Amino acid sequence: MLKTLFKKLVLYFGPLSFFRWLQRLKHGNGITILYGHRVLSDEIILDKNDMRSITGHTSESEVEQAIHQLRKRFKIISMDQAVEQLACGHVETESAVLTFDDGFQDNYRYLYPVLKRLNVPATFYINASVIGTNKSLWFQSIINYFFAVAEDNVLVEINQQSYDLTNSEKRYRAAFSFMQYLQANHKPQEFHSVIGKLVGASTLPGEQDKHMSWDELRELAADPLITIGAHSYNHYPLGYCDEELSKFEIDESIKQLEENLSITIDHFSYPRGHREDFNQHHIECLKQSKIASGVSTIRGVNRRFAEPYSLKRVGFPQSISDDVDDFYWHVAGVPQIVQSLRGK
Ligand SMILES: [Zn+2]
Repeated sequence: MLKTLFKKLVLYFGPLSFFRWLQRLKHGNGITILYGHRVLSDEIILDKNDMRSITGHTSESEVEQAIHQLRKRFKIISMDQAVEQLACGHVETESAVLTFDDGFQDNYRYLYPVLKRLNVPATFYINASVIGTNKSLWFQSIINYFFAVAEDNVLVEINQQSYDLTNSEKRYRAAFSFMQYLQANHKPQEFHSVIGKLVGASTLPGEQDKHMSWDELRELAADPLITIGAHSYNHYPLGYCDEELSKFEIDESIKQLEENLSITIDHFSYPRGHREDFNQHHIECLKQSKIASGVSTIRGVNRRFAEPYSLKRVGFPQSISDDVDDFYWHVAGVPQIVQSLRGK
């Protein structure tokens, strides 16, 4: 009760509201670009035995609720509209854009019907290398491996590291720790062979981790509500790639999507998207390919004349309450600010 009251006071009268008002006065209305990854059925999210339920994904009903909440305060617009309004310096009203990265098949199965039913535009950023194949993206192969090990502990010979796998969260943590080892010690060109050694013969993804097929993507691409963007070819964070490889990662993803879907690709999402994951070389590659925007995962709201190749995004909240202010609280980044203050 007190917390709710505090939240309302801060949102309407506090420094946050003042800061927002000041930003708006100075820079006009803002565009908040939200990003998510997998969207699953409510049954999967509630099933604690399903590994996908613990890995921070969103459920169909949470997305639906989030859209209702968003509509109370924002106009939901497409990526094309966002880029155009930012470039001309006039953002008509406080707006939001929905984006989803990685192109998992669950986006087609569970998310697309919600978007369609609510008539909401969204952008899907796709890694072309796994579309129409049986392959997983490199990081997903690592997650799958650590969830598939039968024992409670495993010694990985590649880095001579032993991992505690006594529960699902530890398995997830082990996978992330191995990803960090891989990124710090191997070039992206080596990722697939190192992962091959790690997972041995069990490399095929389960039905549950598939990516969309070309036919499914074609159906989405034909729908005016949906924008298809590129997310690199193999999902290597571009900051780890040399200039030649990063150019290939950008160009090949765009080329394959354009050829297979018979559309023009105008938008790009940097894999991982942290500040160190893209640089001027990558922006030049995007410009050469006539790409109009690049989105990161740097948190923030975009205002008029924002640099179109370094757009900020805010993560989709993982759980959403009925209170619209809770949602706005998340979008404004208050939990993250509190967390970082506590961490210091
Ligand atoms: Zn991604």
